[in-house]
Amino acid sequence: MPDIKQITQKIKQFRDERDWKQFHNHKDVALSLVLEATEVLEHFQWKSLAEVETHGAECKDEIADELADVAMFLFELADNLEIDLLAAIDVKMKKNALKYPIEKSKGKHTKYNKL
Ligand SMILES: [Mg+2]
Repeated sequence: MPDIKQITQKIKQFRDERDWKQFHNHKDVALSLVLEATEVLEHFQWKSLAEVETHGAECKDEIADELADVAMFLFELADNLEIDLLAAIDVKMKKNALKYPIEKSKGKHTKYNKL
């Protein structure tokens, strides 16, 4: 199983072989990341919770494609900004643990500032 650095190298190779780096500024990569995330949302739009469950199982491959699109732009943007994504996730999870202490947040969906 390749790690994020190896995957990011493949993404950059794909981009650079096509001379697309000239289009991949931070704004447009961030925009593309969000656009791809909306393609994930489209799979579930207007469906009931029961339909969402069925659709998720029936269209797993198509949803996987969209999630991969999101991840590829995410990994590229992090790389372009020289952000170590795994380190950033680790730091953010520590911040989240402070914002959402288990004793206050367990079983609740309340935002941290309202706990
Ligand atoms: Mg897509």
